Amino acid sequence: MSVTLEVSNLSKTYGEGDRAVAAVRGVRFATEPGEFVAIVGPSGSGKTTMLAMIGGLLTPTSGSIRVNGQEIVGLRGKALAEYRRRKVGFVFQANNLLPFLTARENLLVMARINGSDMRAARARADQLLEELGLTHRRDALATELSGGERQRVAIGRALMNDPELVLVDEPTASLDSARGRQVVQSLIAEVKGRDKLGIMVTHDMAMAELADRILEMHDGQLTERLAGVAG
Ligand code: ADP
Ligand code: MG
Repeated sequence: MSVTLEVSNLSKTYGEGDRAVAAVRGVRFATEPGEFVAIVGPSGSGKTTMLAMIGGLLTPTSGSIRVNGQEIVGLRGKALAEYRRRKVGFVFQANNLLPFLTARENLLVMARINGSDMRAARARADQLLEELGLTHRRDALATELSGGERQRVAIGRALMNDPELVLVDEPTASLDSARGRQVVQSLIAEVKGRDKLGIMVTHDMAMAELADRILEMHDGQLTERLAGVAG
């Protein structure tokens, strides 16, 4: 697996007329296989909107998103559902687990949706739970988990089907800094070890600095944060 992403002239405007909000404006960037990219920027700058477009959850107003050369913009119906299900692992800010299932079952449900071999899926789930420091919480119901534990289960769930693109929105919001660093490091290991692509939106510069590259979003526009510039 060796995934590339090329985003060009990507824009999203919500609403129309004098209510229109240009959330993402002409974004362009490309990635290398195995790259882990952090996106930082103030609240409301368009980070979630951009991530949702890349993940096929939101239709762009204009522009192009190519994954391994395949154009994603304009995919509909079954093709779009396939893209989301097979290629993308998404960790949302509001990580909604299924409350009536355990931590482990929340991972396994992804494999069921995908029609995977359940024996292999159980091994994969247990391995991810271990990497995320959740083995001892494996059989706890989602409702019994702390905020940080739920966040980690959500990350495990996103990785369960071995997605090529791992898209993460504010993963460390409900994690303390030591735990946050550990979780981001296991995400990076997963991305690097299998030549995936990771994109992580974060407020936390200490976390962003663990990435290969930091991009900054401002007013819907994306700029490269220059290496070696302090602050
Ligand atoms: P960030 O993730 O950087 O905080 P968002 O992508 O959530 O930024 O939002 C970017 C801009 O788009 C903000 O001005 C926000 O209010 C607006 N916005 C986001 N979602 C919607 C929506 N569904 N309808 C209208 N405006 C929206
Ligand atoms: Mg956001």
